[in-house]
Amino acid sequence: MKAIALRYPKFHWPEGKTSAAIISVDMDAESGLLFTNPETATQLDVMVHQAYDVRTGVYRLLDVFERKEIRTSFFIPGHAIERWPETVRDIVVAGHEIGHHGYLHEYLAGMDREEEEKILLRGLAAFEKVVGQRPQGYRAPGFKVNYWTPELLIKHGFIYDSSLQDFDIPYRLAVAESQEAPTIIELPVQWMLDDFAYYVHLPRLRPGFGIENPENVFAIWKAELDALVAEGGCFNLTVHPFLSGRASRCRIVERMIDYMQSIEQLWIAPAIEVAKHAQTVATARIWNRPIDQVC
Ligand code: ZN
Repeated sequence: MKAIALRYPKFHWPEGKTSAAIISVDMDAESGLLFTNPETATQLDVMVHQAYDVRTGVYRLLDVFERKEIRTSFFIPGHAIERWPETVRDIVVAGHEIGHHGYLHEYLAGMDREEEEKILLRGLAAFEKVVGQRPQGYRAPGFKVNYWTPELLIKHGFIYDSSLQDFDIPYRLAVAESQEAPTIIELPVQWMLDDFAYYVHLPRLRPGFGIENPENVFAIWKAELDALVAEGGCFNLTVHPFLSGRASRCRIVERMIDYMQSIEQLWIAPAIEVAKHAQTVATARIWNRPIDQVC
């Protein structure tokens, strides 16, 4: 048992807290579909389906966050930042963090390093133009990253990434095997805590999929929260305004927040605050050796 404890280190949360919860809001607007299905640019019904993100869903979520006095972390692609600057500024004024989420919600899988860096810079330019501050956090669209992604993020001044799924606690993600190699804080995510896995029905493209009963989603999320609180883990919820911003689903988000706030030892914080805390404590240091040959 001692060996197991060493392999899965206990994470030290701030004084008085024994676990943490982050609410992250991935506000993609039209960008994701424009990347995977560029033909949808001319389809009004599909485009406005995604505009629900910024016209309705986000405001319903912001209202909940304001009433519950909770600060969260948004991840927004550069294209959505440029197309919906007023909404983005409303999010900033409401006190929430905004992290980088690609430019056109590009899936990085299959891209080379140069192409990936260009996208990173294009997203940063959108922040400079509209948000007026540099993002400190990054979430890869679709949670898809390359082996060199952490190195690019460090090069461009990011404090944390939140795209990987190998731990339930924050850790240091290293760019090379050497103990001296630079690291970036990783705040792991998981598909079970992503509303995309339950609700995503897309007109024309993905009809008839995933309209889960929000009560079932609440039950899954609550069970995971209970277990992670008991273990001292980090519950990292991902919601999309065009999905969880729908009326009945938003009530589930609100109920989750009520439940989180009823747990005294649970630290509810934006991702950047969790990442900055993780920089100050001992935690796992992970380097992912590239797999260059499949036998
Ligand atoms: Zn996204």
